[in-house]
Amino acid sequence: KLKELYSQLLSQNTSTKSQHALQNYSKDEIYEGLLREEFCAYFQPKVASPSGAIIGAEVLARWHHNTDGTVPPSQFIATMEEHNLIHLLSYSLLKQTLSLLSYNRDILKALQFSINLSVKELEDIKLPEKLESICEEYCTPTSQITLELTESHLLENIKRALDVLLRLKLKGFKLSIDDFGTGYSSIKQLNELPFDELKIDRCFVDGCSTQPNKRVIIASTCEMAHQLGLEVVAEGVEEVEDLVVVQSYEVESVQGYYYYPPCTPSEFLQTVSESALQ
Ligand code: C2E
Ligand code: CA
Ligand code: CA
Repeated sequence: KLKELYSQLLSQNTSTKSQHALQNYSKDEIYEGLLREEFCAYFQPKVASPSGAIIGAEVLARWHHNTDGTVPPSQFIATMEEHNLIHLLSYSLLKQTLSLLSYNRDILKALQFSINLSVKELEDIKLPEKLESICEEYCTPTSQITLELTESHLLENIKRALDVLLRLKLKGFKLSIDDFGTGYSSIKQLNELPFDELKIDRCFVDGCSTQPNKRVIIASTCEMAHQLGLEVVAEGVEEVEDLVVVQSYEVESVQGYYYYPPCTPSEFLQTVSESALQ
């Protein structure tokens, strides 16, 4: 019954998957952009539920293109994945995040930063050592970094992924299952993987106050995740009515335009400073 509900809701969902359909830029253009260091880290605050206090941020890529202005991830992530460039983006965004952190430890020391990794990157068996050495370079504990992996691609090559995931976990990184509900894995399957957090995809959150089917999915996901010791994040919360619903299922944290949109590093520092004064 739950599987039916998921499929029904996902067939209406155009958000997550169609984003990857657009590919306007060639591999060479993207590579040149990487060399020119045009890919920048934006930060979307994540807040505790129900207090609304900022507890961390998700790092989101933006391309400050030399002629085309600010380009969203939907126009370069898929091409980067296809041509094995995506790890260069991850390393660059991790370094930008750690650099911001090292210059602003007084303001940011208690916050958790989430970096998106592509499942393809788990094919590099040296990934745990590489990410750890970047953290060491910036004198930041690995435990301050959460690595988000999209659920829908996770189970495709689970055996190889598992080894790398376990070693990332052993090195101290937190692991998060992103876009939960957009693939067809059950929480039970995911429980065999060493995750700390589960993010409920925005397609289930958006409109949940008026759509009982979405509430069924959110309720059962929260219940199972909590039983398995995973913290739950509700993504893409825009409306107060939807916020009230996800709060009623005791999600640990919330991300979405209702609280804050993604912003530049300086805007982020200002937001965090102002919220600390309140
Ligand atoms: P995601 O990881 O699910 O990130 C959340 C996306 O939802 C972001 O879009 C964010 O701007 C958007 N969002 C957050 N709150 C709301 C809301 O309340 N309403 C709505 N309508 N949208 C909201 P963005 O930045 O365009 O990123 C899209 C996707 O691109 C990300 O989805 C992620 O899968 C991918 N991505 C972004 N940066 C990176 C990166 O550095 N590496 C990798 N591998 N993927 C990335
Ligand atoms: Ca994410
Ligand atoms: Ca997500």
